[in-house]
Amino acid sequence: MSRETRERREGSLEAPTRHPLDWRSPAFYDEDALGKELERIFEICHGCRRCFSLCNAFPTLFDAIDATPSGELNEVDRKAYWEVVDHCYLCDMCFMTKCPYVPPHPWNVDFPHLMLRAKAVRTKREGLHFRDRVLTSTEAVGNLAGIPVVAEVVNAVNRSAPGRALLAKTLGIARDAPVPLYRSHTARKRLRRLLRTDAGVTAAEVAVSEASGGAAQASEGATANGAIPIGGGAVPGPAATRPDEAPGELRATGAVPPERAPAAGSAPAIRGRVALFTTCYGNRNEPQMVEDLAIVFRHNGIPVRLVPQERCCGMPRLELGDLEGIDRLKRRNIPVLRRLVDEGWDLVAPIPSCVLMFKQELPLMYPDDADVQAVRARFFDPFEYLMLRHRAGLLRTDFKASLGKVSYHVPCHLRVQNIGLKTRDVLKLVPDTTVDVIERCSGHDGTYGVKQEFREASVKIGRPVAERVQRAKADHYSSDCPMAGHQIESLAYPPERSSGRSGASAAENAGDPHRGPRREPEHPLTLLRKAYGI
Ligand code: SF4
Ligand code: SF4
Repeated sequence: MSRETRERREGSLEAPTRHPLDWRSPAFYDEDALGKELERIFEICHGCRRCFSLCNAFPTLFDAIDATPSGELNEVDRKAYWEVVDHCYLCDMCFMTKCPYVPPHPWNVDFPHLMLRAKAVRTKREGLHFRDRVLTSTEAVGNLAGIPVVAEVVNAVNRSAPGRALLAKTLGIARDAPVPLYRSHTARKRLRRLLRTDAGVTAAEVAVSEASGGAAQASEGATANGAIPIGGGAVPGPAATRPDEAPGELRATGAVPPERAPAAGSAPAIRGRVALFTTCYGNRNEPQMVEDLAIVFRHNGIPVRLVPQERCCGMPRLELGDLEGIDRLKRRNIPVLRRLVDEGWDLVAPIPSCVLMFKQELPLMYPDDADVQAVRARFFDPFEYLMLRHRAGLLRTDFKASLGKVSYHVPCHLRVQNIGLKTRDVLKLVPDTTVDVIERCSGHDGTYGVKQEFREASVKIGRPVAERVQRAKADHYSSDCPMAGHQIESLAYPPERSSGRSGASAAENAGDPHRGPRREPEHPLTLLRKAYGI
């Protein structure tokens, strides 16, 4: 490549392009070809080193190179390549925010996709290890741990020192890592009860049901009748596609995609009717967050219904390169979601990683699948949706309470959606509210932050975020990702039983003017509901 070409491309204002993942091709799994591509990209990164502070993958690579006598990549042991791969949790931040060599640059650097390919090759060769099978079985584990009484036992064991020792020994879960609470009273059960007892809404109108013990299963026949008839819904339309993209490509733009943006003088092309994908974690571990979403949306005149049959979005499997596992889940989820889109519903999920799965990862795996693309076009982050309503003059701003100062963490999987800081923008509509935005990785990153061998790196990555939260001494601290919120909690306000810096005792915390008392994170949807006084 000529110097002229390189200079023209670097620093270009052209939006980066994400190419489809060619995961069905035999060449994708060719280990020699993978090795050559790892060498090619690592050599470029070695000469660039912009990403040294993003995660632990790049420092692992650069340290391995710097430790060789010549300081060159060709002397690095191939074992170190796999350590780099292991430290990548596919947050996409290097691609989306740092790298000047991403497509359309001729060097064609897509570091996250290269890491994903390496993970997929290894998973195809070796299968998933026991711990990874457990950690990715979010539905099975949630169903078991969510059974009444069992949930209490599991939660008690997970919070005891002997229980954590057992988890460390059997599953390699770090003792000081936050592990989720399991709830037998799931989000879907809560919403079912809430909708049934809601004034003016009969059980028949609320066509959702909870299969006993099942993960987010409900009546197959539930259709638009499942809407909560609050009014304010826009006219359903056909599934939209994005006219600004060549087939199979995703362009990262800082703007709302054209079919989502309001046309001049008209309501936005959102339909004002929402089918809620609760997510495994939301349903079993943070049902309050899901309930808050439904209540805030309904308060704003948006009919809400549950997605009738819901399986894991597949993000935990993506992190491990289990593409066949994702395919199985996709075959269950996409037909249900496509049907909802065709019936005139928009789709919302409360967790950024799950939204990203439908907005970006599945579309890149299935560029020619019309159903996947139709679902993608109608999948929204909740605050993206609320802000579109606001632009159309359809968001209530009659707040009853101020929030004061909010220390707000933006998760990586929300940042890479390129929708702007919509959560901040909505929270700032609340009178007497200031939002201190923290745009750094919390270090949780799916299952990375709970694994013993990565915990130290995870704490190092998340520490600056926790310290910002401590210094802010805000009235609330919050993250769109509830797991990131608990990671920050574990570092900023660690429980008494932990040890080490991230495990200072409560008494130590109380005596530290920068730490303050132990407090729990509050999801932005919970804060918004508080502000509305509902
Ligand atoms: S995708 Fe994220 S974790 Fe992976 S190398 Fe890039 S910045 Fe690091
Ligand atoms: S991913 Fe891009 S920006 Fe980051 S180190 Fe490699 S070449 Fe440089």
